[in-house]
Parts: sequence; structure tokens; C-alpha cells
Amino acid sequence: MNDVLPDLLEEMVYLLKQQGADPLESKLRALRIESICDCGDENCASFATAVEVKVANYVELQSMEGQVIIDLNADDEICFIEVLGRPDVKYLLEEFYDAQS
Ligand SMILES: [Zn+2]
Repeated sequence: MNDVLPDLLEEMVYLLKQQGADPLESKLRALRIESICDCGDENCASFATAVEVKVANYVELQSMEGQVIIDLNADDEICFIEVLGRPDVKYLLEEFYDAQS
């Protein structure tokens, strides 16, 4: 994720600290993008960071723009990042996806 979305990553780390959820920082930094959400919603730039996505809990970040939500599984591992209303993120993800396929 650091290679593809470095700005989003730093923004999320900053927001986590502001919300007192710093323990997630190291997990966030280690994330890999497994797959991009295929819901087809124009506003959606969400992506999975685990092969299996089973959401048990979530942390909603107070982002300045759009909506950013970290989904956690039952083991408190990050399995999905919901990103809505962020064309900047969507653009980068699409570039990444095109380069891979
Ligand atoms: Zn989606």
C-alpha cells in the first residue's frame, strides 16, 4: 500500500493518531492491496487487504474529504479499507490495477 497510495497511508496514520488508535499504525503500514472492490460504484475506491474479508469491527476515520473506514476481522487484523468519495485514491488504484493486468 505504501507504494501505491503513500499519501492516503500517511493521511490515515495521522487520523489514527488523532483518534487515539495508534496501535493500528504498524498494521496499516504493512498492508498489501489484495484486490480492488468491484462494486462498480463511481464513488468507491475501496480495496481488500486480505484474501478473506470477514468484517468483525471497524474504525471510521474523520477524514477531511470523503469517507475512510478501516475494517477489521475477528483477529483485529485489517482486512478491508473502505474509501468513498475520493477520486484521488480511485485514480491511483485504477493506475495500479491497469499496470497489473
Ligand atoms: Zn466498492
